[in-house]
Amino acid sequence: MEFDLFKIARYPFVEEAKKWVKNEKIEIHEVLNDPVYERARMRAVERVKEAMKYGIIKDTPLLNEIDCMMEIFSYPLARLIVASVESEYLIRRYALAEAKKAYENLKKEDSSFIQKIAMEFGMEVKDGVIHFSDYLKYAPTWDMKWKLINRVMEKGYVKLSNEEIARLIQEAIRSKIQNELFYMFPPPEINKIFGELIANLKNKLIAKEIKRAEGISEKDYPPCIKNLILAVKSGMNVPHVGRFTLVTFLNAIGASTEDILKIFSNSPDFNEEKTRYQIEHITGRISGTVYAVPKCATIRTWGLCHPDELCKRVNHPLFYYRLRRRKNELSKEKVL
Ligand code: SF4
Repeated sequence: MEFDLFKIARYPFVEEAKKWVKNEKIEIHEVLNDPVYERARMRAVERVKEAMKYGIIKDTPLLNEIDCMMEIFSYPLARLIVASVESEYLIRRYALAEAKKAYENLKKEDSSFIQKIAMEFGMEVKDGVIHFSDYLKYAPTWDMKWKLINRVMEKGYVKLSNEEIARLIQEAIRSKIQNELFYMFPPPEINKIFGELIANLKNKLIAKEIKRAEGISEKDYPPCIKNLILAVKSGMNVPHVGRFTLVTFLNAIGASTEDILKIFSNSPDFNEEKTRYQIEHITGRISGTVYAVPKCATIRTWGLCHPDELCKRVNHPLFYYRLRRRKNELSKEKVL
C-alpha cells in the first residue's frame, strides 16, 4: 500500500505500520533498552501523560525518517504502559486521545487517503458516500445532527463530507484501541523500564477515586437511586427517565462527570463518548441548562419509587439524602 513512513508515523495503528515494524526486524527488548530508542521511550511517556492530562495527544514535528521511526515505536510502547497501569479509566481515556489525534490529522487528508483508512476498518466508503450499516455502527447518533433522518441517503448510502467520514473513523479507531488494550498482557520488562510512571499513574488514579468517595456518601442515597445504580451495574435496561434521574441526582450531590461515567461504565452497552455527552448535556456542562432532580411524585409516576420508612418524611430524593446524612453524622458525633 501507498503509506510512506510519514503517514505510518501519523497513523501507527494501520496494518502497514505492523508490516513495517516486522520488516525492520527490531525486537521489543531493543526498543525498551537500547539508548538508540531513548527518544521513542520518552515520546511514549509523553503520549500517555498527554492522554491523561488533556484527553488528546498532540502531534510532534516529523522532519525526517528518524523522527518517524521514533514516533512509530512510541505508539506500541505507550500502549504497553497504559495496559500495565490496569485502569479501565486510563484505557478508555488513552484510546479516545489517540483516536482524536488521528481525527485531527485525517481532516487534513484528501478523500482517497481517508477512503483507504476507512477500508482498514472495514467501512465501505466511495465518492463521499458510506453504506448506512457502517454509518450506524460508528456515527455519534445521540447527537441530533448525526441521526439518520437528518442525513441524505440514496439507495442505502449516506452522503458525508471528508471531515464527517474522518469522524466515523475516529470512533472506529477508539473502539479498536480500547478493545485491544483490555486484552493486552504486557511483559514484566515494561514495569522495570517505566515503573515510576506506572506507579505514579496508579497512585493518581486511586487517589482520585478516594477523594471523590470521601465527599459522597453512597450509603445515604435514597432507595430509588440505590435501585437505579444496581440496575445499571447489573446491565439491566434502565429507561431514559431512570438514567435522567440518576444523573441529575449524582450531579446535585457533587459527583463529577467521571464519577457518573464510572457507574454507567458497568453497563454492557457502555459507550463512553455517548454517555459523556448525555451526562454533560443533563448537568449543563455543554447545554448551559442544569436539569433539576425530579420530585418523588414524578419518580413515582415513572414506577421507579421503592420507598422505605424514611421516605414517608420526604417529597424529594435530595431531602432524603440530606436527612439521612445528617442523621448518620449526628449518630457518629454521639459515639465520639
Ligand atoms: S419516596 Fe422519593 S426518595 Fe423515596 S424512593 Fe420514592 S422517589 Fe425515592
